[in-house]
Amino acid sequence: MTLTDRFERPITYLRISITDRCILRCVYCLPGTDIQWLEPEKQLSVDEITRITEIAAWLGVKRVRLTGGEPLVHPHIVELVERIASLPGIEEVSLTTNAMLLERLAHPLAEAGLKRVNISLDTLDADKFRRITRGGDIDRLWRGIAAAERAGLAPLKLNTVVVNGLNADELPALARLTVENPWHVRFIELMPVGNAQDWGSGFPSQPDRYFPVQDMQTRLSTFDPSTGSGLRLEPVTPPVGNGPARTFRIPGALGTIGFISPLGEHFCQNCNRLRLTADGHLRPCLLLDGEVNLRDALRAGEPLLPLFQKAVDAKPGGHELFQQHYPESRRMAQIGG
Ligand code: SAM
Repeated sequence: MTLTDRFERPITYLRISITDRCILRCVYCLPGTDIQWLEPEKQLSVDEITRITEIAAWLGVKRVRLTGGEPLVHPHIVELVERIASLPGIEEVSLTTNAMLLERLAHPLAEAGLKRVNISLDTLDADKFRRITRGGDIDRLWRGIAAAERAGLAPLKLNTVVVNGLNADELPALARLTVENPWHVRFIELMPVGNAQDWGSGFPSQPDRYFPVQDMQTRLSTFDPSTGSGLRLEPVTPPVGNGPARTFRIPGALGTIGFISPLGEHFCQNCNRLRLTADGHLRPCLLLDGEVNLRDALRAGEPLLPLFQKAVDAKPGGHELFQQHYPESRRMAQIGG
């Protein structure tokens, strides 16, 4: 069975924020200081996440990505991966992480059935990394990447959220990581999800932060401070992964470069996903606020199939950022990105 929405898009991918908690406080994801975490009883349990995913698989979901918050802080992350990976119909379980706990967990996660990891890396500079993440240690991230490679969690993707005046100058250096590593580096436009406020001193203010994907490509092709010349990028077809990234390669490189542009070049026409929030709500669109509450129905013993159908029917044709409709109900960490 495959769920198909009003625009004939098959829904085969579920992203689950398994906890809203994180050990880092990236300025664009968890800005501010008075962060209110979900009360434990509002979070889905391992049994509840597994049950919801089982139903999703029955409805045609084949790929699951665990995210957060930080999925590796979940106390039962290995058990959860194992249970989801063994559900009939699930072909791939992957995970998005800041890699701070990956060195220890990469091997047990791979044994449990995890196939791949996406790792967030916004800068190559250790001090800037600490400032952006508000406490992160870039050496731990590199050790996590090495452990992921040893465990066979491949292909490895690196996610860079590009912010004007913060890390846009590092695009060439980040892109050149792909020359000698078989990694997929993805440059992502900053999305306006719960991050409009001040990020603190030394960070760009709200109207100056957005760096469109067209400017990323221009920056890569015309400017490289270390070599004084631009990078040549050749398109890769078909694109890497089943997601929205458009893919390129530096000629001869082992890895690839992707661009994800929710605003600049919007990719909603190919959206194949639903999102499950840390407190058990199905979210049809990352960038619009409507949700369907599965948790209360599950706990009341009510059927979930009609609620999946309701969420799929509510999937909009596209986000409405250009009409100034911004998501306001949640931070990115509760939705999972
Ligand atoms: N803690 C994990 C991590 O750091 O990768 C997973 C959760 S995080 C919310 C998932 C992804 O969303 C990360 O790659 C992060 O960079 C991205 N993200 C968070 N806020 C974003 C925003 N406002 N715009 C674009 N991407 C964002």
